[in-house]
Amino acid sequence: MAPKTSPDAEAPIPEWIARFVADIPSAVALLDRELRYVAANNRWLNAFGIVGESVIGQRHEQIDPASALLLADLHRRALAGETVEASLADDDALTEGASHRIIGVRPHHDRDGTIVGVVATVHEALAVATEKSLQYATDALTGLAGRHCFMKRIRAAIAPEAGPRRPAAIFLLDIDNFKGVNDLHGASIGDEVLRVIANRLLASTRSRPLPSARAGRPPATQRSDMVARLGADEFAIILGNPTPSLGDADAFARRLLQLAVSPVLIGEQRVRLSANLGYIVTTEAHRTEDHAMRDLDAALQEAKQRGPNSAKAWEPALTSNVGRRLALLDQLRAALDENQFVLHYQPILRLDDGHVVGAEALLRWNHPSDGLVPPAAFLPVLEETGLIVPVGCWVLRETVRQMQVWQMLYGRDLLDWVSVNVSARQFNDPSVLLATLAEIRDSGFPLSRLKIEITESAVMRNPQITRSVLTELQELGIRIAIDDFGTGYSALGALRDYQVDTMKIDRGFTSAIDTPDGKELVLAMLKIARIYGADVVAEGVETIVQRDILRRSGCGYAQGYLFAKPMDGSFFGAFALTHLVETGDAAD
Ligand code: C2E
Ligand code: MG
Ligand code: MG
Repeated sequence: MAPKTSPDAEAPIPEWIARFVADIPSAVALLDRELRYVAANNRWLNAFGIVGESVIGQRHEQIDPASALLLADLHRRALAGETVEASLADDDALTEGASHRIIGVRPHHDRDGTIVGVVATVHEALAVATEKSLQYATDALTGLAGRHCFMKRIRAAIAPEAGPRRPAAIFLLDIDNFKGVNDLHGASIGDEVLRVIANRLLASTRSRPLPSARAGRPPATQRSDMVARLGADEFAIILGNPTPSLGDADAFARRLLQLAVSPVLIGEQRVRLSANLGYIVTTEAHRTEDHAMRDLDAALQEAKQRGPNSAKAWEPALTSNVGRRLALLDQLRAALDENQFVLHYQPILRLDDGHVVGAEALLRWNHPSDGLVPPAAFLPVLEETGLIVPVGCWVLRETVRQMQVWQMLYGRDLLDWVSVNVSARQFNDPSVLLATLAEIRDSGFPLSRLKIEITESAVMRNPQITRSVLTELQELGIRIAIDDFGTGYSALGALRDYQVDTMKIDRGFTSAIDTPDGKELVLAMLKIARIYGADVVAEGVETIVQRDILRRSGCGYAQGYLFAKPMDGSFFGAFALTHLVETGDAAD
């Protein structure tokens, strides 16, 4: 029988391999990608207190739930190509000199080098009090401390059992898109890159001036710096005594970032990374390691907001921002339940005869104490949290309801269409959006009387998803408008693939139309729209001069404060009606 090269729980492994595994003098097991046993020897079973059963084909959690989580985590990392170790002992039960069991997991490859499972071993080790070996959760790839150890180190620094609380300087470095590096260069180069970064970080702390020796020196764990790897591509550093001033921390942060992003040479390959860094010099307010980590994370998030390769020091406002956003999120959830959202409608006119032919529905929050809140104040939170998905459905249903109310009140359709804004987030999980539209269609409302406005930048953010959603929308018969046209980065190529009904020229271009360059730009956009066979709505028309230039240039439609601001549904009904009467186009 040919030796098997990949674990396959269905087929039995050759007998001689089973005997070989049984004779290995340490605890060993082979598991497949689904964490099912392919082979295991008695020593392994003993390590988990399992006697006399066959485990082949079973998943580990079926035989030892107590260690299932730990093993699943190691397994996941080994499948990603890492070699990892962790202690099976309860963390705090570890005492110096006590023996404890280490579980080690590494990838198992088939003939082609594909990872098809993991090899796991258990061995005994002695806990010793040198800092390095107490890090039994040491990261096997880089040799750096793991998260647990790092948290202990922060605790020792900011909330020592004896002695005064001291500030600590902590840095959190996050490498962007490391998965991309693995995909591009392969996992073994990826591992090597991480090792290089780890060594650079270690060197940077070693080259720091040593604390001066003084009487009553703090214990070792409190004195020295520590570099840790907290996640696949996340590193953390804590500087021991003397704690640097914020100014020194700024300089150190810049250096760390520099170290992380300077190219890594591995053989012939040159790997470039980008990264972000958050850091903190803790204050009296940071009473536990969790407080420190929470604020450190807020600083990192802020750095990410600022774009690649930025570093940001924590400041109290960052944490209160997080707090404020959470409170806002609670209020917004309640707003949806309690019907506090309202829509205002802004007319869209045909420029050659001044008729109101359409409107844009714009979301407002009727806050119980603050009054009407504009979307800029809450849309970002709706989008980040996904709450925009249900709110977006509400917007669609409410628009349809309003159009039906106008029809009932005035005995005619006031408008050809109403457009509704949709954010990129709604496109990511389009089923909800599509289901709502199908429901509206099934109620008998013609979807051709709705337009969906999506911004040019949202189209570009995820062209593939957008493509499939736009295609489905078109099949439903809904019309599509590209919002804020000209402000996204060239989506022209992508736009060619859809039947865009309307392009909306952003207010920024409209307001500059009375300058020579500004006019040329608008003319160019009108030309592009003509090529695509799309109508054009100029947004933000505020002056008669702008309106006249637009009309002469052949722009079909306009929207802006010159004609009307957005107004609530009943106002809009009256406005549109008088408008119809004035232009002699009222219902008979
Ligand atoms: P937008 O879709 O580009 O909407 C046009 C914005 O310009 C509206 O601001 C409108 O009030 C404003 N505007 C219109 N004419 C003028 C003018 O002549 N001068 C000036 N200065 N401004 C004018 P608003 O209502 O604050 O909405 C801001 C943005 O919020 C919208 O930009 C849209 O992107 C988003 N938004 C509004 N409602 C919704 C919604 O229901 N869902 C989603 N996803 N986004 C929405
Ligand atoms: Mg819009
Ligand atoms: Mg716009």
